[in-house]
Amino acid sequence: MAGTLYLVPTPIGNLGDISRRSAETLERVDFIAAEDTRVTLKLLNHLGLKKPLISYYRHNAEEAGGQVLDRLLAGESCALCTDAGTPAISDPGEELVALCAQHEVPVEALPGPCALVVALSASALPTARFVFEGFLPMNRKNRRARLEALAGEERTMLFYEAPHKLTATLADLEEAFGPERRISLCRELTKLHEEILRTTLAGAVERYKGETPRGEFVLVVEGAPAQAGEEYTVADGLERVETLRGEGLSRKDAVKQAAKELGLSRNELYAAALEL
Ligand code: SAM
Repeated sequence: MAGTLYLVPTPIGNLGDISRRSAETLERVDFIAAEDTRVTLKLLNHLGLKKPLISYYRHNAEEAGGQVLDRLLAGESCALCTDAGTPAISDPGEELVALCAQHEVPVEALPGPCALVVALSASALPTARFVFEGFLPMNRKNRRARLEALAGEERTMLFYEAPHKLTATLADLEEAFGPERRISLCRELTKLHEEILRTTLAGAVERYKGETPRGEFVLVVEGAPAQAGEEYTVADGLERVETLRGEGLSRKDAVKQAAKELGLSRNELYAAALEL
């Protein structure tokens, strides 16, 4: 019988964020496939664990993926750890998961740290509907084309970005979405110098003018205003109110949020909700 591939999320800055279940899984598996063995070794030392490690990173994914698969098929269990956060989210792992699924090897994903989720929850921007765009293309022409395609996107948008490209990306975002669009710049999350700057795109450009930013960033950008042509009905509003109430909001707050999200009259929606 094939062994299991465990996707083990690791801290994005604070070693205390490794969960008990993740630590137990690392202890139990036969071996660990690590994006950077030095980084994972540091975590294992913190946990007082010793475990055989093999390298699995973007540029050896095909060859190393085959080796991991063979060992899984032979009955060994494996934990996949990337440098930080949840494996397969903008880092190696996606292909390995697909390969395992293809060969009917069980895959178990553990919940844990993920930079985009931490950023979204702290952004103070709407969280009900969002879209994760990962890293924008490096090439400026392609990056602009991607942003152009997002011009009408109404959901909150999340981007990962490297510090040396941040200034150029902020300028492109301002050009594509306009200076007034709100952004939460989430830097060094869970680390000592964590900083969340909630401002506009113009404010963000101004903040980093003439400065080389340092640290890791998630950009959370407000979606475009709802299009006048896109008509939502009171019935759509009531459905959304029900969902929000299921998430724990009071009727009043659920109506307020649903009306804002769908561009409906708050009074009309509240009256309809009372009649239910
Ligand atoms: N798999 C990871 C996850 O679950 O978040 C993401 C890996 S991706 C290669 C690395 C990017 O995640 C960084 O360039 C940055 O955009 C974001 N990131 C990771 N840690 C972060 C942190 N502590 N603060 C802000 N952004 C972070």
